[in-house]
Amino acid sequence: MSFEVPDLPYSYSALEPYVDEETMRFHHDKHHTAYVNMLNGAVEAAKKLGGKSVEELITDLDSVPEAQRGAVRNHGGGHFNHSMFWEIMGPASGEMSSELNTALLEAFGNLDDFKAEFHNAGMTRFGSGWAWLCSTKGKLSVCSTANQDNPLMASKYGGYDGKTPILGCDVWEHAYYLNYQNLRGDYITAFFNVVNWAEVSKRYSETL
Ligand code: MN
Repeated sequence: MSFEVPDLPYSYSALEPYVDEETMRFHHDKHHTAYVNMLNGAVEAAKKLGGKSVEELITDLDSVPEAQRGAVRNHGGGHFNHSMFWEIMGPASGEMSSELNTALLEAFGNLDDFKAEFHNAGMTRFGSGWAWLCSTKGKLSVCSTANQDNPLMASKYGGYDGKTPILGCDVWEHAYYLNYQNLRGDYITAFFNVVNWAEVSKRYSETL
């Protein structure tokens, strides 16, 4: 069994004009596919990793043989992060659960202040990485990671020791450069128009 790129749950053009069709085609078909191919190569090279989910792999990188650990961190992270990214976006924003709404207000005061903190996390990530909204047993926080690291990873591997991401924004240039060029801030602002809050709410409820 090898890892596969999941189909997009909507058309390539469904997130227009906020995320353009050409970006979605390159991002999903080329970038995500490359992560999956490299991850499969690493798992093939380390037989003991067979059968583990990508979440299990990135959550416990210490169990990955050292020769494959960097590849699993980068490409397993890439596969996990992008699989989530496609799902937490959508052409319809869906309904935010009252549980998530309450938790956002508790953590950030109001929705605009949450968005400002998330935006800032994406803007201040130098180089490539991700901005995240995470839940720790229901308590929400914003953070960012470099490259394809994920909050689920141990801090020594760039993560936050098991904080569970429920929303993530890819701030690699490949996620926005075709449409926004150097204007990362405009892209992050636009991203909020395509967040599928029903999916984020579902992911939040699973952390309670
Ligand atoms: Mn990406």
